[in-house]
Amino acid sequence: MGNYPFAGKETSKATLYSSTLALPMHEYEPVKLEDIINDKAMDSLMVMDSFTKAQSIYSKPYEKIFVGVSGGSDSDLVVDICKKLDPYSIKTKYYWANPGLEYKATMRHLDYLEDRYGIKIERIRPKMPIPLVVRKYGQPFLSKLVSEFMYRLQLHDFKWEDEPYDVLIKRYPRSQSALEWWCDEKGEGSRYSIRRNKYLKEFIIANPPTFKIANKCCQKSKKDALYEAMDEYGADLDILGIRKAEGGARGGLNGCFVSDDEAYDVYRPIFWYQKEDKKIYEEAFDIKHSECYGCDGYGLNRTGCACCPFGLGFEEELSACDKYEPQLSKAARNIFKDSYEYTRKYREFVKMMDERKDKVYSFPEFIIEKNGQLKMAV
Ligand code: SF4
Repeated sequence: MGNYPFAGKETSKATLYSSTLALPMHEYEPVKLEDIINDKAMDSLMVMDSFTKAQSIYSKPYEKIFVGVSGGSDSDLVVDICKKLDPYSIKTKYYWANPGLEYKATMRHLDYLEDRYGIKIERIRPKMPIPLVVRKYGQPFLSKLVSEFMYRLQLHDFKWEDEPYDVLIKRYPRSQSALEWWCDEKGEGSRYSIRRNKYLKEFIIANPPTFKIANKCCQKSKKDALYEAMDEYGADLDILGIRKAEGGARGGLNGCFVSDDEAYDVYRPIFWYQKEDKKIYEEAFDIKHSECYGCDGYGLNRTGCACCPFGLGFEEELSACDKYEPQLSKAARNIFKDSYEYTRKYREFVKMMDERKDKVYSFPEFIIEKNGQLKMAV
């Protein structure tokens, strides 16, 4: 270790604030890599590479760096990197958007991060609380893409008809992209095809949704608030803790750095990290994650909004919440009731269809058994 002020030790908020106060205001000075990395970190070329890149980004003339903290494990690494590169937070500010459905464990973890690193994490209130978003627009169901297309079709009072695209586009001329999704116009391999979700079309035809579905929850409760905070701050760089290997919408992103016509550039320091790189980082720098994770805590493998219906493991999250944060569980079960039930029904449907693969599927509501008898599909 070199003369990095906080390397290798936890720093209490009081210690940092008093030492910061004792220092004269000064300009940002680039940190030397040898002062912030250690031998263990060198076990991963990816970790080394990310530090080199991060140092080069921090050396550029950015003046207002915005770091969105989620309280999740990827975000923990990013806070650690940013703090190492800007130890006095001369040009870095940390923010957390509270969507209104957060684990208390996450709040405790934010306090821990502030104490450990001597930073302030601004808590941003939601622009619109989740229950209001859900009431106004609809509940998230299955995935962002599925919810978005179902929302658009519901807006046009779509009847979930099993007709070709050419027929449907005449009936719903303003729903082009959603109908392309519904009719699998881009082919099964496309992420914009309903066929990406097994038997989803058959399920919806047999069980049209009786509640509103939408992909507005994240945007209205968290993202709008974060964008507003970025504007107010006048951020010229947005740093995000996301990894491509996590999949989902991240899979469509192409690199760790974006500079386009936006008022700010975007940088994702751990974008290319695989699980092994993350582990090396955690051990090298003694990273501690939220109580939400692992067998010593709630046993979850993600944080974020509690029991989000987009999560594959929302049932496990509900069970963990029943045990550790019953009020939160009650709230989630109330807000996302229809979506949970619809997802359970869909999962049962997929199971049933898989078990009946040897039978011929015919009408939306019915299965034709091999002996020719009609049976209800669900
Ligand atoms: S993560 Fe889920 S619950 Fe949270 S805002 Fe987004 S959609 Fe809503």
